Amino acid sequence: IMVIWVIAVTLFSIILFRLIFFRVQKVQVKSVKHVLGMVSIEETDLSTVNALFVTAHPDDECMFFAPTIIRLVQLSARVNLLCLSQGNYYNQGSLRKEELLSSCAVLGIPGSKVSIIDHNCQLPKAPQLKTSLSLTTEKSPTFVLTFDGRGVSGHANHTAIYKAVSHLACTGQLPTNCHLLSLETVGLIRKYLSFLELPLSWLLPSALCCMSGLRGYRQAKAAMICHRTQLLWFRYLYVMFSRYMFVNTFHIIPQGPKNLKIY
Ligand SMILES: [Zn+2]
Repeated sequence: IMVIWVIAVTLFSIILFRLIFFRVQKVQVKSVKHVLGMVSIEETDLSTVNALFVTAHPDDECMFFAPTIIRLVQLSARVNLLCLSQGNYYNQGSLRKEELLSSCAVLGIPGSKVSIIDHNCQLPKAPQLKTSLSLTTEKSPTFVLTFDGRGVSGHANHTAIYKAVSHLACTGQLPTNCHLLSLETVGLIRKYLSFLELPLSWLLPSALCCMSGLRGYRQAKAAMICHRTQLLWFRYLYVMFSRYMFVNTFHIIPQGPKNLKIY
């Protein structure tokens, strides 16, 4: 009886996860278009979309944003990456730059779309970020994806990017057709539930939800392995247990000067 139970539960979960996965894949194009305020619903690819990921360190792209990068590349969006440090903390700058380029190649971002602007170990501030953003893509990005106020791991450089981006956004310093999304930071338990967290990400409200299947997960893992200097034992645990290897949920960063009402 135990064996039958185990088989039944396993089968049920496989079916459930497959259902969720296909459901999410189906609504993804729609949610991206909704976020971007695009009207044409008919097209099924995102070839007109110019996405820019802004990260703090080489390896943030595969540790935190892999499901979204992989999915956007699949949907033929143009994907760019702006990394705001070279990770030169242990004088490994040039090595880490190479690792970043090969990790991006695995994820589907060509080297010409990767920019590294080193802020010399300083936290990125709004004015510098603005110049970096304008230097990055030849066309201004239709949407920028970055960390949220808690920066997933709480790293000061992650949260500094969010602060700089939201400062630019609420002071109206970004083009109006540029939409901003922040990667949701989840609590510790949810973070390390691995793929078991997928139903929660699916059910809870977010502006955009991107999920990886087994193939996407392998791709993210392969990208992670490119960062050889960073492969300490706990990284392997991270790859196994982090939900960010499987799913990303985003919220919209509000733009434009806030309407203050003074009575
Ligand atoms: Zn980082």
